Amino acid sequence: MNSEQLELTIGWLYPTLMSTYGDRGNVICIQQRLRWRGYKVQIMPLDQNSTIADIHSVDLLVGGGAQDRQQEIVMRDLRGAKAEALREKIDTGTPGVFTCGAPQLLGHYYEPAVGLRIEGLGLFDFVSVHPGLNARRCIGNLVIEVTAKRLAEELRAITGSPAYVIGFENHGGRTQLGQVEALGRVIQGLGNNGEDGTEGAFYQNAIATYSHGPVLPKNPFIADWLIQTALRQKYQESISLAPLDDTLATQAREAMFKRLRVNVPTALKL
Ligand code: GLN
Repeated sequence: MNSEQLELTIGWLYPTLMSTYGDRGNVICIQQRLRWRGYKVQIMPLDQNSTIADIHSVDLLVGGGAQDRQQEIVMRDLRGAKAEALREKIDTGTPGVFTCGAPQLLGHYYEPAVGLRIEGLGLFDFVSVHPGLNARRCIGNLVIEVTAKRLAEELRAITGSPAYVIGFENHGGRTQLGQVEALGRVIQGLGNNGEDGTEGAFYQNAIATYSHGPVLPKNPFIADWLIQTALRQKYQESISLAPLDDTLATQAREAMFKRLRVNVPTALKL
């Protein structure tokens, strides 16, 4: 199929309430990588004004971070039929990347530092609890290696090497995984809870992570995996993506690994 005939719609969850630390950069990154390759792309905000049909119409999902207060507003809106529609999308393999506050809301619940527990959608089998205003926030650069089995294999097929993801975390909540697979293991930083060495989660084709940064421009191979997966889901055939010149991203990654003194395996293609 010719790329000009193909089109993807990115569903952007609550853009005005959930986009801390440049998380909108993830939307821009996917949009631009599609455009560079000649695909058509639409951005559909999914928020208080959206219908169930809007949610069903998207091919890819992006959700950013938020403060506790905004998370509460979002969860008041994301109930009933809307919650069901989003649940169905993710359950049936719509790919997505959800950062920090967004995955907290897709887990069973988030307990903020102040106020009542916010019930989540229960899509990811994990819970997130803020240990209180006096607890140290988890802030700083974050480097992980993707360990979620299928994702690691599919990313390896794109890059030819293990997937090292660079991000920046800033969260008070601590996440404890249930049966869901972790996204990766922490190499530098704190990740889900600063204790068990896990970071994020991977369910169906949904990536949950504490990595802001925003994470996709810093790790463009994840953007390409999302695009490839969305195209496969929509058009029911495997479409290989034209390579792009990622020299600047590669140089930025090299600089970060050096600065953070991360020993990358010699096999790593950045
Ligand atoms: N409010 C959440 C926390 O502190 C999420 C923060 C964020 O999305 N950056 O854990």
